[in-house]
Order: sequence, then structure tokens, then C-alpha cells
Amino acid sequence: MKFSELCETYSKLEATTKRLEMTDILVDLLKKSDNAIIDKVCYLTLGRIYPEYVDLELGLAEKMVAKTVAMASGISQKEVEKYLAKTGDLGTTAQELKKMGKAQITLFTRELTVERVFETLDKIARSAGTGSQDRKVKLLASLLLEAFPEEAKYIVRIVLGQLRLGVADMTILDALAIAYGGGKESREVIERSYHLSSDVGAVAKALADKGLDVLKSFKIQVGTPIHSMLAQRLASPEEILEKLGGVCALEFKFDGERVQAHKKGEEVLLFSRRLENVTHQFPDIQMLVKDNIKAKKCIVEGEIVAINPETGEMYPFQVLMQRRRKYGIKKTMEKIPTALFLFDCLYVDEQDLTISSYLDRRKQLEKIVRETEQLQLSEKKIVKTVEEIETFFEQSIERGCEGIMAKSLDGVYQAGARGWLWIKYKRDYRGPELADTVDLVVVGAFYGRGRRGGTYGTLLMAGYEEETDMFKTVCKLGAGFSDENLEELPRKLNKHRIRDRHSRVDSNFEADVWFEPVIVLEVQGSELTLSPTHTAAWNKIKKNAGLAVRFPRFTGRFREDKAPEQATTTVELKEMYKAQLKQIEK
Ligand code: AMP
Repeated sequence: MKFSELCETYSKLEATTKRLEMTDILVDLLKKSDNAIIDKVCYLTLGRIYPEYVDLELGLAEKMVAKTVAMASGISQKEVEKYLAKTGDLGTTAQELKKMGKAQITLFTRELTVERVFETLDKIARSAGTGSQDRKVKLLASLLLEAFPEEAKYIVRIVLGQLRLGVADMTILDALAIAYGGGKESREVIERSYHLSSDVGAVAKALADKGLDVLKSFKIQVGTPIHSMLAQRLASPEEILEKLGGVCALEFKFDGERVQAHKKGEEVLLFSRRLENVTHQFPDIQMLVKDNIKAKKCIVEGEIVAINPETGEMYPFQVLMQRRRKYGIKKTMEKIPTALFLFDCLYVDEQDLTISSYLDRRKQLEKIVRETEQLQLSEKKIVKTVEEIETFFEQSIERGCEGIMAKSLDGVYQAGARGWLWIKYKRDYRGPELADTVDLVVVGAFYGRGRRGGTYGTLLMAGYEEETDMFKTVCKLGAGFSDENLEELPRKLNKHRIRDRHSRVDSNFEADVWFEPVIVLEVQGSELTLSPTHTAAWNKIKKNAGLAVRFPRFTGRFREDKAPEQATTTVELKEMYKAQLKQIEK
């Protein structure tokens, strides 16, 4: 497939923010892609070259790419930088400079193919060690020399991780269902294999090559992370019991970092909830799993919690975050020891347990784990009454946990879903006001004045609506920022700046600046109110009204452990609003 064809599709995608139109464009693209490259077409369209969990980056900073653009267009780096200051986008800069045609165009210019672009990007990502920067630059230059102006624009954006077509994994799954699954009915099967493999490209290839039946018998691979099952929330033990049919299992809700451990013989890999490979950050946890889990091949899940070495008590999540680092791991490991509390088991020795009930999975977990002081199973109790829930809840708080998880006894493991088979119940719902925090996604910003002149004054924040895979606004956030935060924020946000509102963002506000929905912040509000402008839970509680967080304040906690789709959902906000009404009625 010619790379120019792919670029044509990208311009069409850029010209629309309508989800259905985007899906149609993607259906056309996927239909005309050869099976041999359909996975690559998916990755490139998402602005990357591998599935998210693969720990490889192209590793070229903007300065190096600017240097390469200069080489490929036959002008000085200074001139490129001047142009860049004007356009604000190195992709457009590369396109314009190619148009000016100062480069020595080779007489035998070949047309670039998707295969060639992909292979070259793959080589760039894999080149490491001494001299690798030079090799990367040369490889990229070879592509840019052969590229037409529009191709150069998209290559540069992909290399910088700035493609931003507004296409999400879910949009590609929609398109795959239509293009190769025989219609929307196949969406569920396709989505399940996607959640079990965390790899849109692999799903696309299997579907295009072998059809829907092969996905129905999709096999879990140890070493490939599975999307985590998530929980809904409710505000009272009564509602929890009612929702779960009068009986459920309770577990402590630990305040740490979720981890999915994959064990294959002596080899152990650890994945975060965002599918990052975090094995190197937790050599202690890796060892624990290796030494104390008896199964040869398995996938288990649990929460890593920081432990106070002097008292043995659990520290809150913030302390554990200090373990998120690239260097000095051994030293921090001694300063902040950890424990692992296991609560689920998804696969044991060739057996896929995601389709087994909670009780069966728990039984398997108990069979394969040798408990130690540092490696324990989460506390578990089967309950039938409100009093039992209250007591278990008090115990969990006393132990330093943030609340409890209620789990359906016969519930399967719903990879990637936030269903009602797991329900969280946290301490903070009990206060008279909105004492609980919410995790919201930054989708836009408004310029500030006075002390915040020249930077962002307020941020436009959104919750995640699962039903539509969209981000719905819920407040403007301007309070709680320290000077340090104010300095740090533009740096973090500007990487995700886009020209227009993102296609997955629903907002009645016209922000000064728009961002891709990526950064998640923890926000404390005083209460939830009905809002005529914010789009979260629109029409869900009252006609022509959404929900807003009143007096929102940043807690200082960047939720880097959360993907935007794991932010507080609009359904959760609705539940919190209802809980708040009940409190007022009392
Ligand atoms: P939240 O981050 O508020 O959406 O709550 C869900 C998270 O709670 C999960 O992703 C886990 O990291 C964490 N968690 C702590 N204890 C448990 C448990 N016993 N079962 C399931 N998840 C737990």
C-alpha cells in the first residue's frame, strides 16, 4: 500500500470531528489494507508503531527531528527553527519546507510504501547504544528525503508522537466490526479479544486473516497484559447488597498501585493498570512472585502497597509513587519497602480463568500462593447483611485501607470493563459534603491574568462517559495549584496541545487552548450540582442539565497511574450526586 494513500485518509480524518464519519473513513481504509499490513496500518493511525504495552520508543527529541528535517530539505537548522516558531508544528514545517523544494531530489525517487515507512520507524525504535542517535537521524532522513510534502508532515508527527487524528482504539474496533466482522453484532467478540490481548493490531490481523470465529476462541498469552477489570461505586451498604442480589464477597480496598503479574517459569513480568511494563521498578515484587507462586504459568492481580519499615503499617498511595522512577531503584527500595496483596487470578497453567466465577478464581489463587509477610491474599469475607458490611468497612479503615470492594460471587472477570460485578465503597462518601475526590481529565484551558498571565488560568476538566467513549466536561479548575504545579503544568500539557476540540470531547465551552484527553488530575470538590452548561450526565438526572463539581480544587496529585478512560465516569458522578441528595434528605 502506498504511504500517500494512508496520508490521504489522515487528511480526511483531520477534517472531521464527527465520530460516525471517522468510522466510515476508517472502514474504507481497513478494507483496502492488505492483510499483511493491516496491524501496521492500525498502529500508525493511532500515532504509534507497536501496541501500547511494548516498551520501545522512537527516542528522537524535537531538536533531533528538526535537524533531520533540515538535512532532508536542504536548508539550515536555524531556518527550520525559525519556521517552526511560526507554525508551532514541526510536521507542518517539514511539509512547507519540502514544498519549497530546496532538497536535492533523487532522480529515481521511489514512492514510499506503508511497509517501508513502518520498517524504517521500527529500525529507529530498535536502534540503541552508542551511535544510536546518529543512526536514528540517518534512517529518518532517508525517509524524509523520499517523502512528498504531505508524507513528510505525517512522518514527522508520528515520530514525535503528535499525530493526533482523534482516533481511539475503540473507533478502530467499531470500524473493524463493520469492515471484517459482518456488522455491529460482532463488536462484542472483537472487543473481548482486544481486552484480552491489549493489541488492536493483533486483533485486526487475526480478524482479517481468519474471520470472526478465530476471535471467539482467542487465547490469552502469558506475557501479554490483559486490560484490568474495574469497579463501579455505590454510596451505601444497602445499595450494594441490593445490586449484588443480597450476598457478596468483601475485600479490603488497598490504597496502592494495581499490578498484573505474569509468571512463566522463572520469568516474571509486571504490568501497571495502564499496561506499562513496570518490572524494573519493582525487583522486590518480581522476586516475591517468582519465589512464592507455585504455578508454572499464571497471571495474577493485586495491589502493591508501600509499607512503613518501622511500624509495618501501610502508607498511602502517594508514598508508593516515589518508587516510580528509572534510576536509584535499589536505594528507594530500601527506603520504601512494599507488600503485595493479591486479589485475582486470571490464568493458571493453560486454563483461562477469566470466564470462571469469582469464587472459583479465588480458590485457584489460594491454591497457588504461599503467603509470606510481604505477599498476602487480600482479606475476604462473604456477607449478607448491612451490619456485616459496616463492620468489615471499619476494619479496613483501621488497617489503613481506603474502603472496601464488594464482588459478585459468580461474577466473571470482565477485562477492560467497569461493570457492576465489582463495587467500591469508600470512606469519603459518608461525609455531609462531597468529601471524596474525583479523577478528571484535562481537555482544555483558558488563559490566566495577573500572577497567571502568560500561563493557564483555569483548566477545563472532564469525566469519562463509557457508553459513548467520550469525555464530558464537569468543571473549570483554577484552585489548589502550587507555584511548582503552575510551572510544571504547561510543560506536561503542551505536549498534548491540539488545534481544535478533540473529537472525543463534548463541551459547550470554547476553550482558548485544547488538549488531547490524556492528563488525569485528582480534584476535590465541595459538592455536585446540576449545571445548564457542563455536559457530564447530560439529561441523565434532569432534562437539559448536566453535572458540575462545585468549588473544585487540585489536590496536587497527578494521576499518572490512570489512563484517561480510567478517570471518574459520568455514571459514578451520577451515583455520587444521588448519594449526596440522600445525605441532605437525612
Ligand atoms: P479506583 O482507582 O477508585 O477506580 O478503584 C479501583 C482500584 O482499586 C483497582 O484498580 C485496584 O488498583 C484497587 N484495589 C485495591 N484493592 C482492591 C481489591 N481488593 N480488589 C480490586 N481492586 C482493588
